[in-house]
Amino acid sequence: MTETNSHSFATLAVHAGAAPDPTTGSRVTPIYQTASYVFRDADHAAALFGLQEFGNIYTRIGNPTQSVLEARVAALEGGSAALAVASGHAAQLLAFHTLLEPGDEFIAARQLYGGSINQFSHGFSKFGWRVAWADATKPETFRAAVTEKTRAIFIESIANPGGIIIDIPAIAKIAKEFRIPLIVDNTLATPYLCRPKEFGADIVVHSLTKFMGGQGNSIGGIVVDCGTFDWNGAPHRYRTLVEPNPSYNGMVLADAFGPMAFALACRVMGLRDLGPAIAPLNAFLILNGIETLPLRMEKHCENAVRVAAFLERHKAVAWVNYAGLPSSSNHALATEITPRGAGAVFTFGLKGGYEAGKKLVSNLKLFSHLANIGDVRSLVIHPASTTHRQLTDEQRITAGAGPDVVRLSVGIEDANDLIGDLQDALSGLA
Ligand SMILES: *Cc1c(COP(=O)(O)O)cnc(C)c1O
Repeated sequence: MTETNSHSFATLAVHAGAAPDPTTGSRVTPIYQTASYVFRDADHAAALFGLQEFGNIYTRIGNPTQSVLEARVAALEGGSAALAVASGHAAQLLAFHTLLEPGDEFIAARQLYGGSINQFSHGFSKFGWRVAWADATKPETFRAAVTEKTRAIFIESIANPGGIIIDIPAIAKIAKEFRIPLIVDNTLATPYLCRPKEFGADIVVHSLTKFMGGQGNSIGGIVVDCGTFDWNGAPHRYRTLVEPNPSYNGMVLADAFGPMAFALACRVMGLRDLGPAIAPLNAFLILNGIETLPLRMEKHCENAVRVAAFLERHKAVAWVNYAGLPSSSNHALATEITPRGAGAVFTFGLKGGYEAGKKLVSNLKLFSHLANIGDVRSLVIHPASTTHRQLTDEQRITAGAGPDVVRLSVGIEDANDLIGDLQDALSGLA
């Protein structure tokens, strides 16, 4: 690995974790399309299996293309180590699997990606993990939700789908008071707009599928260990981290691996046993995407401001919820949490309600109607009839996905063309 961690963000986005391939000289990190790796000798094999030495064993647990991706995202987030996996949801699963035992609880913001609300309420309950919901716009509601069994707090930095900016420092303060790790899903912001560690997060997760990869071509996720949480000092026992591990000769991961223990535990326990490994090709595509992250995020944010300002003035539009607009009640927080821009995903409401929302998505031509965000292409969705369909009306409204709501993910095309497309589609509503 080249020692680049003292460089600035744009340099790290291109170089962190990568070096020319030692055997071929290949400048671009190759796709190591292999399931397994030859050991040097029997002692080497034993050292790898015993965690005395790090190296490649089997692609379910790690792969050289994936390792570069992990080192790069860890550098961009300012973390100590990372684990890349098959999807954003797999990253969340492994983070919680490392922290929780059956019967444990965690507190999550109500303002989340719809898929995360499903994962937490349905998928996770089968493991015996209980979620308590709090209101991310009212940090004190997290304090009120803490019980004896609370083992983690989970929020998004920019919350999906409403595009609201969350007061991470206020929620981090409560997590620290109870010595509970704070997990921040930084998918919508990316470390270019916000580095949750600087605001007190202990663990950062991403869906790499979105702005990080940036081109809508592969699913991936990552867990970043900020290296900040004192597992041994916590009042609760995080068993995976602090108890002797029978599958590694009684090793205590928190003692052996210090600030990298959480990421390592997610790999050698969670990924090893649950199995959601990222494909080497996807790691490669996402890694290439990250190289242009700063350029893309600048353009995404610039276009989003222009599109939001246009919508705010349109007579068919009831309201625009974009923290990047000076008129937004969320704007002051945005200047503190995401000073380079408030992201490119936001919602607006149509005076014509549910039917107008459905009509608008069919009228648009440049904006693709689909369930994704963070693509170079502009995207649109009507959450109430799609992503947030499974939720109750109350959950939908608190998640910012009421009947009249349309969500945009503004791409990097020419802003005038995007505005023209919206203009035509809105005229067609009358
Ligand atoms: C898409 C998304 C996820 C889930 O990620 P996948 O890669 O689809 O599994 C989690 N959180 C947020 C904010 C997302 O947008």
